Amino acid sequence: MAKLALAVHGGAGTIRRSQITAELERVYREALRNALAIGWQVLEMKGSSLEAVEAAVCSLEDFPLFNAGRGSVFTHEGRQEMDASLMEGRTLKAGAVAFVRNIKNPIRLARLVMEKTEHILLAGDGANRFAEQMGVETMPDKYFFTDERWAQFQDALSRGEVQLDHAGTQPSPETAVNATPKPIGTVGAVACDHAGNVSSATSTGGMTNKRFGRVGDTPLIGSGTYADDLCAVSCTGHGEYFMLTAAAYDVAARMRYSGLSLSEAARQTVDRLTQIGGEGGLIAVDSAGNVSMPFNSEGMYRGRVDASGELVTGIYNENI
Ligand code: ASP
Repeated sequence: MAKLALAVHGGAGTIRRSQITAELERVYREALRNALAIGWQVLEMKGSSLEAVEAAVCSLEDFPLFNAGRGSVFTHEGRQEMDASLMEGRTLKAGAVAFVRNIKNPIRLARLVMEKTEHILLAGDGANRFAEQMGVETMPDKYFFTDERWAQFQDALSRGEVQLDHAGTQPSPETAVNATPKPIGTVGAVACDHAGNVSSATSTGGMTNKRFGRVGDTPLIGSGTYADDLCAVSCTGHGEYFMLTAAAYDVAARMRYSGLSLSEAARQTVDRLTQIGGEGGLIAVDSAGNVSMPFNSEGMYRGRVDASGELVTGIYNENI
């Protein structure tokens, strides 16, 4: 029986201790732990790694401080367009959606693309029509709206910049969680189940002020998400760089072709991103249940279930 493993992330970027209150840190860590607990329960009940990553990502999509599902960032037109994908290593099956709107849990829709269509990636109106046919849960715009993201969007508009989700403004003081430093938060999960099968899932609102139907790495199999018989990977950061390096696949390729361990391969992939100026990180698991979570940004919201079954979380450079 393989060693069970689960890790999640809530985005990588500039996260400074000086900008985050103790209360806010607690809220983020609780959201990560919550996702871990949900995914871990699936694994412990002998569920598959695919079910575990889907369940963990759904819970992160529902948490409004992360940039996925509820709380997604705004496009240049002031809309929220979400990307998501997942992949099962054992079967090499994958499903993805890009710039979908009003879907409560885009990761669920990605799973349906994988299971109910002959395709891997559905985008835009077509993906929304497919969701309707499948009876997938939708929500009105106001469900996805948060003051923080709107303020961040106004800031990006005034500067004329497309911003990674961490590059936002301070939120209004009256919001539920006061003094959010800089909103951050593409989400993802990787897992290894009882049979040693690994899967990964990633979901995002993309980048603030993005234009013209921009799609990042998140829904692209091989860039933001990848899984095979060796490992499963979920990425977060400036998507264009992850696309240029096929980052998620790069971890698996380094293991396969160079015989590297998971942690060596993952580290080298992030080093490559650093070389070309790409900011971010990734979480990865191999079929022996090892976990690796390297990043080159100041921080990455992340968590894992350790060998003793404890749920541990990290935000800054701490070793977890
Ligand atoms: N990778 C995502 C994108 O470029 C953003 C992120 O991870 O924060 O759309």
